[in-house]
Amino acid sequence: IISQSAEALGIDAYVIGGFVRDFILKRGQHKDIDIVAIGSGIDLARQVAKNIPNHPKVQIFKTYGTAMLRYEDIEVEFVGARKESYTEESRNPIVENGTLEDDQNRRDFTINAMALDLNPSRFGDLLDPFDGLKDLDAKLIRTPLDPDITYSDDPLRMMRAIRFATQLNFTIENASLIAISKNKDRIKIITKERIVVELNKILESEVPSIGFLLLEQTGLLDYILPELVALKGIDEKEGQRHKDNFYHTLEVVDNIAQNTDDLWLRWAALLHDIGKAPTKKFSKKVGWTFHGHEFEGSKMVYRLFKRLKMPLNEKMKFVQKLVLMSSRPIALAQDVTDSAVRRLVFDAGDYVDDLMILCEADITTKNPRKFKKYHNNF
Ligand code: ATP
Repeated sequence: IISQSAEALGIDAYVIGGFVRDFILKRGQHKDIDIVAIGSGIDLARQVAKNIPNHPKVQIFKTYGTAMLRYEDIEVEFVGARKESYTEESRNPIVENGTLEDDQNRRDFTINAMALDLNPSRFGDLLDPFDGLKDLDAKLIRTPLDPDITYSDDPLRMMRAIRFATQLNFTIENASLIAISKNKDRIKIITKERIVVELNKILESEVPSIGFLLLEQTGLLDYILPELVALKGIDEKEGQRHKDNFYHTLEVVDNIAQNTDDLWLRWAALLHDIGKAPTKKFSKKVGWTFHGHEFEGSKMVYRLFKRLKMPLNEKMKFVQKLVLMSSRPIALAQDVTDSAVRRLVFDAGDYVDDLMILCEADITTKNPRKFKKYHNNF
């Protein structure tokens, strides 16, 4: 339909971006399709709507010169090909009309810059000026242009690179990693809401630790979640060492990701030990302790959500409660009595099942056998 509509208007149109990438990767149906028109995207959207039997409503975003319509459960977005140039202070570029090449040049990664021709005589031809296909094959995240400029122009791309590397289990090319480390400070011009969207996508991936390790390695984590960076490292005093709570946390997150799709339970896993950095103490008698870290941690959850402008709603309270209780079943495991178990179940209320999933992940990463031993008691 789009192909016929573009021909009727005498303009060229292409599918571009995520749909093309996921189509080649056979990643299942991509939920949105991006169309680039060499001309007006809005006119093309209107023509397409005319040619669909039930004439879906076209939503027009005048400021961006884009239009969107829904077809079945797919969102189709139309945009005129554009050329972009950036200024220092903002990630919003100056936009002019451009060619398909200009439009491909403004894309973030080679694998997101591939286009399929919709012109009837060339239908389905792949336009891949930056060897995106090769990068898909090599599982590589690479920028079409100079990485230093790409990430500096729009620092959100640093988060996107890490997010795609996590979702697709791809490697980020070295030059990009260097450019991200160099430009990490520019993440400050990105709104918190955008950062959280990317963080959530990393957390919802199959192996979230890929993303958090990259965020740490490039130095971005210092800006985004310094509470996690503070968990890094092992101190040694009088021959006693504690575990590295940063890597332990990532193990717990990966483990829980295998047992639940619940984003908030994954957040709880990510934050379950954050109170350990400020409460860490060494005493000659008992060695390393993290006394009261659960209370501290749950207070920190509130501050962290507030800083990242995440909603301070029931989901936040859920994460707080799990962080607060996360050590309880583990402590009880030393000495499980009926009354202690009843107390725990009572205190956990509706959250008891989630708490058990979190504790299972926490203990399994420390001592798989130990958890099995007392699990049935709950
Ligand atoms: P997903 O839907 O899984 O997030 P996607 O690739 O469709 O993947 P979108 O955010 O919908 O991601 O973006 C659509 C396309 O727009 C991308 O494939 C890319 O070509 C381009 N794009 C999006 N954001 C940027 C950006 N910050 N800089 C450059 N190009 C971008």
